[in-house]
Amino acid sequence: MALTVGLVGLPNVGKSTLFNALTQGSAEASAYPFCTIDPNVGIVAVPDERLTQLQAVLAPNSCTPTAIQFTDVAGLVRGASRGEGSGNQFLADVRNADALLHVVRCFGNPSVAHVDGSLDPLRDVGVIEDELILADLEVIDDELPKLDKLVRTDPRSPRRTEFETLQTLSAYLADGRPARECNLSPEQAASSASYGLLSAMPVLFVANVDEQADGGGVAYQCPDELQSLGADVLVIAAEIEAEIVSLATPQEQEEFLMAMGLQERGIDRLIRSAYSMLGLITFYTFANEKLQAWQLPRSTAVAQAAGRIHTDMGKGFIRAEVAGAADLIDAGSWTALKSQGRLRTEGRTYHVEDGDVIQVLFKV
Ligand code: GDP
Repeated sequence: MALTVGLVGLPNVGKSTLFNALTQGSAEASAYPFCTIDPNVGIVAVPDERLTQLQAVLAPNSCTPTAIQFTDVAGLVRGASRGEGSGNQFLADVRNADALLHVVRCFGNPSVAHVDGSLDPLRDVGVIEDELILADLEVIDDELPKLDKLVRTDPRSPRRTEFETLQTLSAYLADGRPARECNLSPEQAASSASYGLLSAMPVLFVANVDEQADGGGVAYQCPDELQSLGADVLVIAAEIEAEIVSLATPQEQEEFLMAMGLQERGIDRLIRSAYSMLGLITFYTFANEKLQAWQLPRSTAVAQAAGRIHTDMGKGFIRAEVAGAADLIDAGSWTALKSQGRLRTEGRTYHVEDGDVIQVLFKV
């Protein structure tokens, strides 16, 4: 299952430009049959240099990268949570997302109208955050009376924690604070997870800036006022990204980046940031001539990781043979790695590390 990310922001902030750059920029995305689920939903293969190298060494029959699914929600306006501009319906599209990308307009371009008349990134962030909070509040306040009735009739109801958590969240949101900042215990978080609260999702702010000439190339600078939002602000110029992906070949793209003085595409930085924000790692399986990359939350036990690949593998887990991708690339083959004694055998509680290549032994 691909990681799912929803794009939110005001209208005219460059969301569609970014979405198109993201979804058209992935040459390998055709590996996914669902690439064109919907004009607003796109699946992007995660760029992975290690996987490319493993493929070169192992020459598998098939090679599948991990993926991120992006959903572009139509621009939200003030009052979206009360139904202005069909906002609430759009928001429903991202209730099952793992994270949000909040695109903030930081580019001038007087020919593109600003919905609130002037450039003010922090004010804009506030408008969207308020709408997410209000939309969550509506969901919770709709549910609370039903749960209240339930726990009154059955004081020992298993849904008591859920009820109390929603009460806490309701008060918190009513104060204008996003649910992700409310210090819930793991048990409380689990009890409210099914509501898909938007303001509880991890958020990566994307400052969509104009490119600025900087001697040999361009520099993207985060507007000072956005710095206060913390570390998770990614500075990008969506128009440049769209220009890069419109170039036909990887060589042309490379030359363009060099001419601009850029190290890599902003969308590659964006995908990496989404990964690290969510604490994800990548591991690989190689079986029956199939090489596949998988995403996994850091510190997951290998038996649990195997269960995500196939329930039988998790249930019947015996042991795993594990190698670091770098070692395997260096050795040139699984057999060579084994004969050099560089293959490890690990039990079910072993925590999978980023870059592990794993073969699972299991009984059915
Ligand atoms: P959306 O409503 O948020 O989806 O915004 P669009 O992606 O449709 O962009 C609105 C307009 O802003 C389009 O004319 C884009 O070409 C322009 N635009 C988007 N990103 C940038 C940017 O990084 N710099 C500049 N100068 N213009 C941009």
